[in-house]
Amino acid sequence: MYYYGTTGVNKAGNLEIGGVDTIELTRDFGTPLYVYDVALMRERARGFKHAFEEQNINSQVAYASKAFSTVAMVQLAEEEGLSLDVVSGGELYTALAAGFPPERIHFHGNNKSKEELEMALDNRIGCIVVDNFFEMELLKSICQEKNVKVNILLRVTPGIEAHTHDYILTGQEDSKFGFDLQNGQAGTALITALQFEHFEVLGLHCHIGSQIFETTGFLLAAKKIVEQMAVWKNELGFEAKVLNLGGGFGIRYTKEDEPIPPSHYVSEIIKEVKKLTSQSSLKMPEIWIEPGRSLVGDAGITLYQVGSSKDVPGVRKYLAVDGGMSDNIRPALYQAKYEAVLAKKPLARANETVSIAGKCCESGDMLIWDLPLPETGEDEILAVFCTGAYGYSMSNNYNRIPRPAVVFVENGKATQVVKRETYEDLVRLDLPLK
Ligand SMILES: *Cc1c(COP(=O)(O)O)cnc(C)c1O
Repeated sequence: MYYYGTTGVNKAGNLEIGGVDTIELTRDFGTPLYVYDVALMRERARGFKHAFEEQNINSQVAYASKAFSTVAMVQLAEEEGLSLDVVSGGELYTALAAGFPPERIHFHGNNKSKEELEMALDNRIGCIVVDNFFEMELLKSICQEKNVKVNILLRVTPGIEAHTHDYILTGQEDSKFGFDLQNGQAGTALITALQFEHFEVLGLHCHIGSQIFETTGFLLAAKKIVEQMAVWKNELGFEAKVLNLGGGFGIRYTKEDEPIPPSHYVSEIIKEVKKLTSQSSLKMPEIWIEPGRSLVGDAGITLYQVGSSKDVPGVRKYLAVDGGMSDNIRPALYQAKYEAVLAKKPLARANETVSIAGKCCESGDMLIWDLPLPETGEDEILAVFCTGAYGYSMSNNYNRIPRPAVVFVENGKATQVVKRETYEDLVRLDLPLK
């Protein structure tokens, strides 16, 4: 098996993480349980940051908090000197409740409401990534009303979409996000923004996709944007201070995935932007990136209690756990794949192939198909790896299943950072008929 971060096997033969026995974690906090390897999250954050520092490049590494947004996680991001992306009033509220410095918060989204924009301005956040003309007008009127100035980036679609091992070049980008570069919308947006005294246009932003395993897409996007920056410098006298190339750096979920180190993306991006800007006699901009999954994904594991099993002779064996699409909807949503072991015998030889079912009332509620496992005994705990990104953040109460607790582990110590939901929590917002 593959070990992430501090994950390993302890003297008792159990799976451990952050120096803590996973079986003890399930006794102390119950199941299902999300467990995060704090040391690995710190290592990932530092990997991105150091890659910029090494080359003396002004930068911001903004954690895309949608991957896993809780007060403790935001505080960890702050400890590591990251900036923070939020995409809703709720994520912004979480960041502010965590005491995150507002000037390092960036607000994204294709349909920010008036209330959300007002909240962002009232709290003096670092910048707003303006996505479309509707938002630009809305933001203008709020700035006028409040008589405040705001930093903005313009989100552009460079006509490049990354698809894991592949990227597509599209002429007319068909995306719900951003101003299109090729059809001139981005230019119009820039001219409009530059004319408005309450906007400080810092620069440009793009995000080309997720779970990307190569640098090509980022370099192509950088090229398209820097070429356009050169045109805008000549025509409008505008020079971007910031080039934000988004997130989407791929991680290893299963042995089929072959990620490249964070530092490699960063050094390639720096090299390309340096080359392109010097060719066009542009100043080297600050480079911002927005990793989400790659900061937290492989640091998370989910521990489940194994329950019922069902043998369909000659077809397959199902093994059901006490969670499923309520705590990890990714397999049902987009056939995401995971690996897992039995936490009491992670090293035992696999002698059967089972499929891991969730407990929700949906046939599609399967966590892993065809997982090689040793024979399961009584009272087994299944540990599913790499569930740190878009697991808790996409969790839900389907079938009125309470959402699991979240525990951070580091240096032999476990700290609960999200409480397990209770049945009372489930009906807390419900109002009786009479
Ligand atoms: C989702 C998103 C990210 C983070 O993507 P990951 O694949 O989790 O790294 C970054 N920036 C923007 C604008 C996003 O929408």
